[in-house]
Order: sequence, then C-alpha cells, then structure tokens
Amino acid sequence: MPHWIAGGETRYVRILIKNGIAGERLVVVFGHELQHVVEALEDATVVDATTMRGRFAHLAGKGSPRDSTEPLETAQAVAVERRIAIELSEWRRMGVR
Ligand SMILES: [Zn+2]
Repeated sequence: MPHWIAGGETRYVRILIKNGIAGERLVVVFGHELQHVVEALEDATVVDATTMRGRFAHLAGKGSPRDSTEPLETAQAVAVERRIAIELSEWRRMGVR
C-alpha cells in the first residue's frame, strides 16, 4: 500500500518496495502499487493517511478498518498484478526483452 506523505491542495503518496525485489517481480509489484495510487487519487475526498486507508477499506469491501495494521487488499490491484505477470510471460515466450 502507498504511504501518504503530504496534505493540502497537492496530494502526494510514496511507494515503498521491499529491498531485494528485482527483475520482473519488481515490475509486477510496482504496477500493483501504482494501481493503489490510482485508487487513492481518483477519489478527491482522499486527503490524508486516514481517508486513504478508508478508501482502500471501502474498495476491499471491509467498511472501515479496525486499525492501521489490518491488511487491506483491492481486487483491482491484484488484477493489475496478474495482468502484468501474464504480459511479461507472453513477452518472454515471444522473445521480447
Ligand atoms: Zn496491494
């Protein structure tokens, strides 16, 4: 999940990716996280970490999260991850680098 880093009129989020993830897995993970950024920023009411977490909880079908450590996942981010993995696999099969 992205991390909220600023409020006000300009909205920023930061994506943190675990060290050691590389190659095609990094592309897949980065695409997954970018989908979360789209999910957060497409809702103008998301203006801080709390409203962003509420947005993800809504998209995950969980109402409001009980605490900030409760894992939340969205079907859209999982779908994007799968799509990227499929495309990378197809490209590899076709010899595209
Ligand atoms: Zn996710």
